[in-house]
Amino acid sequence: MAEVNRKRLLECALCPNMCRCECPVAQAAGREAVAPSGKARLAHLLLEGRLPWSEAALEALSACLGCRGCTLLCPFPELALDDELLAARRNAAAAGICLPAAAPFDHNLKKYGSPYGSRGGPAAAKYGDGEVLYFTGCTAAANHPAAAGAALALFEQAGVSYQTIDEYCCGYPAETWGGETLARQLAAENRARIAKSGARRLVTGCPECRYTFTRRYTEWGAALPLPVVDSAGFFLELVREGRLKPRALEGAGPVTYHDPCLAARLEEKWEEPRILLGFIPGLSLAEAACAKRSTRCCGGGRMLQLTFPALSEAIAKRRLAEFPAGAAVVTACPFCRENLAAGGGAVLDLAELLARACL
Ligand code: SF4
Ligand code: SF4
Repeated sequence: MAEVNRKRLLECALCPNMCRCECPVAQAAGREAVAPSGKARLAHLLLEGRLPWSEAALEALSACLGCRGCTLLCPFPELALDDELLAARRNAAAAGICLPAAAPFDHNLKKYGSPYGSRGGPAAAKYGDGEVLYFTGCTAAANHPAAAGAALALFEQAGVSYQTIDEYCCGYPAETWGGETLARQLAAENRARIAKSGARRLVTGCPECRYTFTRRYTEWGAALPLPVVDSAGFFLELVREGRLKPRALEGAGPVTYHDPCLAARLEEKWEEPRILLGFIPGLSLAEAACAKRSTRCCGGGRMLQLTFPALSEAIAKRRLAEFPAGAAVVTACPFCRENLAAGGGAVLDLAELLARACL
């Protein structure tokens, strides 16, 4: 994993920090210490040895969602502050400092292969030799298996030849908490199972799993031998082929789509879910003030819903207030669904909504 780019970090530390208004952590916490430039200054001083590592310092550096909201106003196109903070946090372990809030989840990851404890997929899981491998992801499996169940019911309806495997967490939480070796071990476990499956495509409803498979696994020496597609794109393909036929939903009012920040900002994937929603007769789409590339994080990025639950919930409430009044919220990310629900929102996964229209 990459080392800290000290020049970029120092540029950020000396910046006027105009991006603070796009940082959900800074806005919800109301503290300059956790605003983007504040975190860069702290990281710089820790790496310079001007400040000693402490749990409080590590907590401040960990208060980053990886959402890249700060890039919207950043004058340095090469800077990915979240990556620099991630790299800086790895130095804490060498100083014997760990994030206490992450300890029980890290323990679960090591013992069970999931931060939530025992692993488990949707009830309709199917082992076999299907052409498409569906990967649920640990957050959907633990918190909302109904979304994965809806996805698999749609596969059945469309006659997709599919299979599932005994999944491990993709490794993203381990990376977040500085466990590079563990992240690589989890990646190797998944890669072996995925390669053995013989599937030709992997479909997942979790943008973090998808991003981890397509970007991080290469870096971790576990590049997958098959293309990885997100479920919105896959369902759109099935609808366009006439294998899924959405019907009008009785009593459906306007719907707003919450763009998961990773998918929208890093992969520019915001059109396919909207096109898919447009295939449901009578459904009207109401856009949030901050949508598509300008979306705002739900508060669930970089596992903050586990390690900083109060902050994460406060961020979710702020995000919910940005949605059009009276519109039902739909998203395509188990972290967003879970966290917006924790903030008091009624949120549906895209697969659940499509299943209501098709099954
Ligand atoms: S990545 Fe998101 S949470 Fe982290 S500093 Fe930037 S805006 Fe704030
Ligand atoms: S992320 Fe960019 S805009 Fe924000 S403080 Fe750092 S350098 Fe400045």
